[in-house]
Amino acid sequence: MNQEPSPASFDQEREHTRTGMSKASLKRDFLDNLFYIQGRFREVATPHDLYMAAAYTTRDRLLARWVKSAQDFKTTHARTVCYLSAEFLLGPHLANNLVNLGIAETSTEAAEELDLDLNAIIEEEEEPGLGNGGLGRLAACFMDSLSTLQIPSIGYGIRYEFGIFDQMIENGWQVEKSDTWLRNGNPWEIPRPKIRFPVMYGGHTEQYRDHDGRPRTRWVPDLVIDGVAYDTPILGYGVGNVNLLRLWKAEASESFDFQAFNVGDYYGAVHAKIEAETISKVLYPNDEPEAGKELRLKQQFFFVSCSVQDMIRLQFNTVGPLETLADKFVAQLNDTHPALAVAELMRLLMDEHDMEWDQAWDITHRVFCYTNHTLLPEALETWSVSLFERLLPRHLEIVYAINQRFLDQVRVRFLGDEDRVRRMSLIAEDGERRVRMAHLAVVGSRAVNGVAELHSELVKTTLFRDFHELWPDRFHNVTNGVTPRRFMVVANPRLTRLITETCGSDAWIRDLDRLRELEAHATDPGLHERWHEVKIAAKRDLSAWLKHRTGVLLDPEAMFDVQAKRIHEYKRQHLNVLHIVRCYQRIKQNPNHDMVPRAFVFGGKAAPGYFMAKLIIKLINAIAEVVNKDPQVNGFIRVVFMPDFNVKNGQRLYPAANLSEQISLAGKEASGTGNMKFSMNGALTIGTLDGANVEIREEVGAENFFLFGMSAEEVNRRQHQGYRPWELYRGDPELRSDIDLINSGLFSHGDTQLFRPLTDQLVNQDPFMVLADYRAYLTCHDHVAEVYRDHHRWTRMSILNVARMGKFSSDRAIREYAERIWQVEPHPVGGG
Ligand SMILES: *Cc1c(COP(=O)(O)O)cnc(C)c1O
Repeated sequence: MNQEPSPASFDQEREHTRTGMSKASLKRDFLDNLFYIQGRFREVATPHDLYMAAAYTTRDRLLARWVKSAQDFKTTHARTVCYLSAEFLLGPHLANNLVNLGIAETSTEAAEELDLDLNAIIEEEEEPGLGNGGLGRLAACFMDSLSTLQIPSIGYGIRYEFGIFDQMIENGWQVEKSDTWLRNGNPWEIPRPKIRFPVMYGGHTEQYRDHDGRPRTRWVPDLVIDGVAYDTPILGYGVGNVNLLRLWKAEASESFDFQAFNVGDYYGAVHAKIEAETISKVLYPNDEPEAGKELRLKQQFFFVSCSVQDMIRLQFNTVGPLETLADKFVAQLNDTHPALAVAELMRLLMDEHDMEWDQAWDITHRVFCYTNHTLLPEALETWSVSLFERLLPRHLEIVYAINQRFLDQVRVRFLGDEDRVRRMSLIAEDGERRVRMAHLAVVGSRAVNGVAELHSELVKTTLFRDFHELWPDRFHNVTNGVTPRRFMVVANPRLTRLITETCGSDAWIRDLDRLRELEAHATDPGLHERWHEVKIAAKRDLSAWLKHRTGVLLDPEAMFDVQAKRIHEYKRQHLNVLHIVRCYQRIKQNPNHDMVPRAFVFGGKAAPGYFMAKLIIKLINAIAEVVNKDPQVNGFIRVVFMPDFNVKNGQRLYPAANLSEQISLAGKEASGTGNMKFSMNGALTIGTLDGANVEIREEVGAENFFLFGMSAEEVNRRQHQGYRPWELYRGDPELRSDIDLINSGLFSHGDTQLFRPLTDQLVNQDPFMVLADYRAYLTCHDHVAEVYRDHHRWTRMSILNVARMGKFSSDRAIREYAERIWQVEPHPVGGG
């Protein structure tokens, strides 16, 4: 009799063919994929072919674990976290997946035996830049930690055809080049053409009575497009769990096409297709301030509608009735970009699934939680009621209905306080009426959190003060974190080896608090020597790369003083610039001046429409041009702007920094995560008491952190007193001479007007109080230099910084969300 093969023997068969973890399997499967997917022999393969073969070989191993995870989560009805984010700034996948699979070393050896350089193959990968900066990168770190902590989850977002632009520097100015990351194919995603949802826009609503005679609303849209799922598996570190990143691509709806085709309007149908596909075409390149564009609102609704429909589909596929949706799912809103999900879930439950308001609201309100990311008034999203109504007429009705019930609650609680009612309304009534997305998010969520202690306090006392008085228990803090897998293990293999050897184990990679074990060795001369060598080696690597990319040569012995983040006035890159001008003048005025040689490295993109940020980039490059070719100063200072700061380039930068610049005006940076990445790689921080800097300083110890500048409270007081920057300019001869030097034309071939918009603004308005912190910043930098001269002291501080960074792992952050906000449990999947 024929025996059916058991599932187990199928699994074993698969082990042998596509998912084996031995060197021999990896080599064979790599060559197989090179042949069967790329259609190449080893001898004629291009670097890109080699990369694709390596990516598919890795992906096969992910898929085996993913299928297991999906089956497991389905059969056990595991409670699932949906992370809704308009941005996921993932960074390259290959190296990260090799680390998480535990085959980084085996793969290196396998490549060597095939006479290939794995690092060169890894370099080939173009990163998916589906985010602007910290917010999108946070979503990516959280995906890594959710999988590593074995929490069933789905990341929902947009599959932008063009991610964040590539930055080029031409004649010192930023030039944007479109990011064509999909041009050569994306081996990490799996299209799911059958997972497709209609997304509606425009039209009008109609009232009618259903067969039971109940009043109901029907939305009659004038545009329907489709969202199609593209799935990327996200594997945890050293575990079998794979979660899903599901990104939506906009396509013309088949029914819509068909309609146009029927009336003979073939070109009309094609046009509709093009129109539809623009929705997921491009990421808006603004970091903090909002663009307020119609297409942006369309994008937000697009991904939110698909995601919520998908959650409902999964609910039906697994658990069953919608009544228990909030038991199966919790959905985290990453800023207000997905806040429309509140109204969309209400609509689906009521209009499509016959639910009454109270029950629908009870479910909706239990599903959503909201993370606030900014207090900057210009970054708070509002949409004009007229635009909202034109695009989403049914949702406007729902927002009004939510608002009415909510404001009645406020009136009952605060009798007669109509001013408060006006402040708290979901609709701003001063001037053009606008929908306040942050208010919608707070009212529609069960929990609201800020992203660092200071930020969460300010959220409660300023931005959402009224809401906090109404619902004090709704507000939380979860301090951000970053994944040590990407930002230590992948980015800095030398430091990883050294730490593992020193601690005697690599357990710190999943339990970052164990870095504390380094403290016992903080004064060990042997460790000091190796610590220094690791840093110098990273600096050499970065120097070589920068030389190749910019032509500027940095001395690896110099102090690498690095500021890398989006260019924004609140982050105060121009304060850093003033310090460079001061160093320059000191050397020029006293050629015998002795100073610690410094390499000032900048990186960061400016929003294409943000003139002042672009002028700051030009100024940095203008100063670099003069400084780097002046033999009188270039032995002491060099300046370089690293073009195209992104995750991949960040991985070159963080390990090479000695000093991390975290110098935002206190109260403006919600958390920062760059600060954590630098510190984990042994850079010391010069920083203000802002965002997570406060907590980093608490953790590493005040004596191991270079603090300067006003506190958030002092900033507030100073602003209320009336801030007059021109008095500071007139009263401080050095400050005056630094600003005057920029205006003199020295850095602009005699053009005395070029930088005027920047310098005039500093002297006349200075909205981010650069001049107020200037003196304290210089003094602090002098102290930094003094400490740097004492190698052992610096190295000890560096070791202690790393040793005490455990708190800033995104694993800790996700654990806090899981326990305090989501109430979800780990759900291990075997095979890890
Ligand atoms: C971490 C990161 C950021 C955030 O940096 P901050 O200093 O916190 O603003 C921005 N961009 C990229 C590419 C990053 O990796």
